[in-house]
Amino acid sequence: MAHLSLRAVGKTYGGSSQPAVAGIDIEIADGEFIVLVGPSGCGKSTLLRMVAGLETVSAGEIRIGERMVNKLDPAERDIAMVFQNYALYPHMTVRQNMAYGLKNRGTSKAVIAERVAEAARMLELGAYLDRKPRALSGGQRQRVAMGRAIVRQPAAFLFDEPLSNLDAKLRVSMRMEIRKLQQRLATTALYVTHDQLEAMTLADRLVVLNGGRVEQIGAPLEVYRKP
Ligand code: ADP
Ligand code: ADP
Repeated sequence: MAHLSLRAVGKTYGGSSQPAVAGIDIEIADGEFIVLVGPSGCGKSTLLRMVAGLETVSAGEIRIGERMVNKLDPAERDIAMVFQNYALYPHMTVRQNMAYGLKNRGTSKAVIAERVAEAARMLELGAYLDRKPRALSGGQRQRVAMGRAIVRQPAAFLFDEPLSNLDAKLRVSMRMEIRKLQQRLATTALYVTHDQLEAMTLADRLVVLNGGRVEQIGAPLEVYRKP
């Protein structure tokens, strides 16, 4: 767990004269769940990808805990990201998918087995550990993607519209599931969505972006209370 801090963060893509995001100041407390919302093109993915290290930072500073991470590779940032398309390895089983990131980091077999078992319990994937992703439903695949993030015990979770490929009914149940996990793990999270209900349900605080800038920031009921 760690706080996450964005100070005067900006991004101008190569070949573009306008910044995609500019002057972003957001302080996220330890264990806080922040949801980023705003119209398409407002800079949500850009911001998330800069925190993840998938996109370079053009201006300002990003800190995870006390560490300035602007120049660090994604793997060195102690964060785990859950993607919209799940990004599972098709040739690996559920267990192997969940273990992969830890194995790469040289975690011992015993610790990996323990963490995978615990994540599988939390996500009700125990019966599916030896299956390949293609033999799972969409919701189960998304739970594997979450399991893979959880076993890492990262300082922060990043979510990029993780539920938008699921049907409406699944979205509701997965939303509740993520909320339970959030309360149980109390890991700092930055979550991007364009779904207002998802944002309302999950956020401790909402950040509304517009045109690459922070338009509003506050508790969901403050933000969505119409003036
Ligand atoms: P959102 O996630 O809110 O839809 P994005 O972060 O994807 O917004 O996009 C913010 C702005 O940056 C948009 O104007 C988009 O066209 C632009 N943009 C995003 N990615 C790139 C890129 N790789 N190269 C150039 N412009 C980009
Ligand atoms: P999303 O909003 O879910 O990120 P997009 O379709 O906006 O999906 O973007 C898909 C990919 O294309 C992203 O990697 C993004 O950075 C890139 N992209 C978005 N807008 C532009 C742009 N104007 N020029 C170049 N790449 C872009």
